[in-house]
Amino acid sequence: HSGLVWFRDDLRTSDNPALWAALEKCDDVRAIYIIEADANLRPMGGAALAWLKESLKLLSKDLARLGVALDVFNGESAEAVAAYTQEHSVEAVFWNRRYGPAERDHDAAIKKSLSGLGVAVSSFNASLLMEPWEIKTKSGTSFSVFTPFWKNLRGQNIAFPINPPKGHGRIKAEDIELEPHPDWADRLLGNWKIGETAAHDKLAGFLEQGLRTYQKKRDLPSEDGTSGLSPHLRFGEIGPRQIWHAVQHIIEAKHSLADEGQKFLSELAWRDFSYHLLYHRDDIAAKPMQARFSEIEWRNAPKSLEAWQKGQTGIPIIDAGMRQLWATGWMHNRVRMLTASLLSQNLLIDWRKGEAWFWDTLVDADPANNPASWQWVAGCGADAAPYFRIFNPVTQGQKFDPDGAYVRRWVPELQKLDAKYIHNPWDARDDVLEKAGINLGKSYPKPIVDLKSSRERALEALGTRTRA
Ligand code: FAD
Repeated sequence: HSGLVWFRDDLRTSDNPALWAALEKCDDVRAIYIIEADANLRPMGGAALAWLKESLKLLSKDLARLGVALDVFNGESAEAVAAYTQEHSVEAVFWNRRYGPAERDHDAAIKKSLSGLGVAVSSFNASLLMEPWEIKTKSGTSFSVFTPFWKNLRGQNIAFPINPPKGHGRIKAEDIELEPHPDWADRLLGNWKIGETAAHDKLAGFLEQGLRTYQKKRDLPSEDGTSGLSPHLRFGEIGPRQIWHAVQHIIEAKHSLADEGQKFLSELAWRDFSYHLLYHRDDIAAKPMQARFSEIEWRNAPKSLEAWQKGQTGIPIIDAGMRQLWATGWMHNRVRMLTASLLSQNLLIDWRKGEAWFWDTLVDADPANNPASWQWVAGCGADAAPYFRIFNPVTQGQKFDPDGAYVRRWVPELQKLDAKYIHNPWDARDDVLEKAGINLGKSYPKPIVDLKSSRERALEALGTRTRA
């Protein structure tokens, strides 16, 4: 009996139900990954693609140990999967589910065409704590607000991770030939250890060191206070159920960590919540969840957009965040909120342009988390967050980066500036700037937008259009 595992967002061998089922049911198991070029699917961004290629090399080695050869293709999966099954006389195909509307339609069509060829398809959940249709309100509908979603999820029995059976023969995996990626992506990957083993090491390190100070440090961008697991989760190098049960285990062993553990799990649950929205709503990367937002006239301001992308807005914490993103493929959550708010509210540039930039530059660029978070910040998200919640990057900077360590790291032009002005250099006297070697407008830009008047403009534009 010959089986095929089609890997997608689940690049791991442990807790991988599709792989496990194939190994159990078939004598001969192959695996494929397709870098999909189908017109109906959103292509992966540059940073994620660079991560993917490294991750596939490692997966290939791990699969070889289980006796499974991995083939990687570029092209249209709609054709490639069917052709592959015919070429290799595959009788059964196994995959873990995807949740975006386009991906669901796509996979359903492939399933149909495979069954026309006499090939059975089995699908599983490897990506989420619970399936999006399993979490329902009392009246049977989906959730729009996180807190009741989290209360419901917390009370569910989250399935335990599973491991593939041992004892399969070894075959030599062929080396994957992949085009070299550009310098930018190479440099960016230098910040990371990729793959399933690295993901588990990271979790173990976090549980030992980071968890106990998670609540205190998670909002401080200069600290290494969060798990850093997001790209691993994005590619399924680790599964959320593995994280869930590892944390539960720690909480049971050490009650003093219960609060920290719960807080961390609630953040992990935001990811399931984003997938809940991705599943139940219409194309969240393209359409505001609140239809009223379709009416907004966004500003067409390519120069401002570019200054934002390059970290040259003249607003220190924003520039620090955008440069961290470009250099490492990751940005701290608090700063993601601030940069997204500046773009979609102060600059009044369409949030989809910001979402697209993040999609291309984040190694954790996630089809659910990225658009759902952008919509949340822009105020058009599911939970009807008030459009007037506009972050002030100066006071936020003073609160979460009080000594300016984060700004100094990513915006070295400001390194010598007194902490009092690190988040608002434009308020400093000339002699203070001079002493720090700063020439505003030359060595570091003047702010491209006035925070006060642009806030008023946003309130006006978003308010008049969106007031119910
Ligand atoms: P930790 O604090 O250690 O959290 C552990 C895990 O929980 C994360 O890896 C993530 O999977 C999940 N999580 C934590 N916070 C959130 C959240 N607010 N929403 C959803 N899931 C969460 N996250 C992505 O994974 N991919 C994205 O493309 C993405 N885009 C974002 C865009 C914007 C504008 C904003 C405001 C947030 C975005 N996030 C995204 C959410 C969040 O910023 C990251 O998940 C987090 O910074 C990742 O770091 P970590 O793994 O160290 O987080």
